[in-house]
Amino acid sequence: MTQMSKIEWTDVTWNPVAGCTVATAGCTNCYAMRMAARLEAMGVEKYQGLTRKSGDRYVWTGKVVTDDNALSAPLKWRSPRTVFVNSMSDMFHPAVPIDFIAKVWAVMQATPQHTYQVLTKRPEHMREVLSMPEFPILSNVWIGTSVEDSAVLDRIDSLRATPGAIRFISFEPLIGSVAAADLTSIDWAIVGGESGPRARPMPEEWVEEIEDLCREVGTAFFFKQWGGRNKKLTGRTFKGRTYDEMPNVRCVS
Ligand code: SF4
Repeated sequence: MTQMSKIEWTDVTWNPVAGCTVATAGCTNCYAMRMAARLEAMGVEKYQGLTRKSGDRYVWTGKVVTDDNALSAPLKWRSPRTVFVNSMSDMFHPAVPIDFIAKVWAVMQATPQHTYQVLTKRPEHMREVLSMPEFPILSNVWIGTSVEDSAVLDRIDSLRATPGAIRFISFEPLIGSVAAADLTSIDWAIVGGESGPRARPMPEEWVEEIEDLCREVGTAFFFKQWGGRNKKLTGRTFKGRTYDEMPNVRCVS
């Protein structure tokens, strides 16, 4: 399924893969898990069996689906788009065959007019895969990892060691201080508090720490949201203004 996105830092989501399993604490209130349950209830074939009810919430079953039919979607978009790849999964989940990732890579290579944002909570596996010769560095593909607290700071090292044109970090949902992070060679940092009924709080101090880290090494700083139960009310103003910085795009060809 492809759809225009409400996410502040992208235009459209593209989901050649659906389904996942939780990795770390940042996954606890996974939006994709809730959305997959909703899509299953609506009868959307691709999402059947991806989640099950557990108490008062839905959780992943562990089933991961690859969707060959979705692969052609970007080839049909005429005007350039910024595309968030796999908002309903994690492309570097161990259940996704490397052959299928190669197909996704081929589509992205064939559509240089689009900019792709690939985000994972499994950057060590991403590093292994993207180090293979069949995965050339593509200047229109940004690779990123999510970092929710200091327990997963090693993801940044894996990202840094991964061949890529642009590297970014999504500090969302930020549920702990990451003041010890090293952002050297990281092009872009997105910061956001958790939203939804079970949102965990994000003190302003944690956001300030990340902005300082960005300024030290020249990483672009994007403040997405404060989050909370009603993210429209809390908004996305930080220190009296919005921060929508984007990375400097380098050409690698
Ligand atoms: S890795 Fe992403 S899609 Fe998978 S459970 Fe965690 S938050 Fe959800």
